[in-house]
Amino acid sequence: MDTRRKYHRIYFTALASIALLVGASLVVIDYIVAEEVLMTEVNEIGSRQRMLSERVAHLTLEYAVEENEEAREQIVILIEQALQLFDETHQLLIRGHLPNSQVVRFSDNIDDIFFGEPEILDQKARLFIYNTREVLAHEWSVDFVSSYYLKQLRKATIKDLHKGLELLAVQYAKNSHYRITRLRIIVAVLLGGIILVLFSVGAFVFKPLFKQITKQERELKKLAYIDPLTNCHNRRSFLANAETEFDRSRRYSRPFSILFIDIDNFKDINDSYGHAAGDIGLVEITKVCLRNIRESDFLGRIGGDEFGVVLNECDLDDAARTAEKLRQSIAAHVIKGDFGEFSTSISIGAATINDSDNNAYDTLKRADQNLYQSKESGRDAVVAV
Ligand code: GH3
Ligand code: MG
Repeated sequence: MDTRRKYHRIYFTALASIALLVGASLVVIDYIVAEEVLMTEVNEIGSRQRMLSERVAHLTLEYAVEENEEAREQIVILIEQALQLFDETHQLLIRGHLPNSQVVRFSDNIDDIFFGEPEILDQKARLFIYNTREVLAHEWSVDFVSSYYLKQLRKATIKDLHKGLELLAVQYAKNSHYRITRLRIIVAVLLGGIILVLFSVGAFVFKPLFKQITKQERELKKLAYIDPLTNCHNRRSFLANAETEFDRSRRYSRPFSILFIDIDNFKDINDSYGHAAGDIGLVEITKVCLRNIRESDFLGRIGGDEFGVVLNECDLDDAARTAEKLRQSIAAHVIKGDFGEFSTSISIGAATINDSDNNAYDTLKRADQNLYQSKESGRDAVVAV
């Protein structure tokens, strides 16, 4: 699989994983919110049941002390209404339904509160309803308020029933907190997963991609400025550098010269030894030139067998001396290979900046004219005027 497709695959897999993890987090967060809402509802219903039973107890007391029969009948109606509401809610609750028709999944410990020892909340609630109706069924008398039934009812209401209802709310809240904590841990794990995926994308996609782009950029730059055969600067780079040095020389009134080099009878070398041998010759001539110029000088291949050298801080005499050194070094150099061996020579035209030059190209043109003169003079020569 090529690298592009590999990165695409990793990238889209990562995107899909992030989408999945975010989706899963949202679902879990939804559960948390729903759980919190249910917890509040159950707590409220517990309180409402407590209030209803309180109201029944209170009304029953009113009933006990009310001497007027008509008023007592009214109280009985109110008590019945409250009892009915209490009973309906209780019936719903033990079947796992809330009055707003939401469904609650009670865990075993809640079922135990409803139906198991020692609480048996269901029994207490029924007993409370039964006792209240028992009280109302007995004939009323003035000392009713101190009757056994009433005492029994208050005990069942205030103590046992309230305790059971309270326990129900507390236990349900505990269960909910436990479930919410578990869900929160899941959300944290999912978010951790998202962060991990993001880091992985950074490490396994963007980092290598960035490295590759930097490498390609470097290669492109090299291609734009370096001659691939000789590895020295190409024509474009040479001319750019020459212009920069020309400007600097003008600005600081410093000497500046250019050498224009052309290999003598290079066609014959290609013809006699082959094009590949010619290539090796070009590479070797480059190396010899580089060995004989200063670090601050700038060599470039500006044509097939043509080279240029920018010599900053060099007047015409200095340029002529460097050119002569190059000419002698090349003439003395023997190029060897599978093809046998050959030596060659170079002709050089040197020119230095003058007042009529507008740019480095003008100086280069004069160096080229001098090169022409050196070829005319019989080659393997330096002309610097
Ligand atoms: P002169 O002394 O007049 O310069 O004669 P010359 O034969 O060198 O003629 P000229 O400079 O005009 O020709 C340059 C030759 O260089 C032409 C071409 O065959 C050869 N050449 C140009 N580029 C390359 C290259 O990349 N590799 C090789 N092997 N030869 C090249
Ligand atoms: Mg030539």
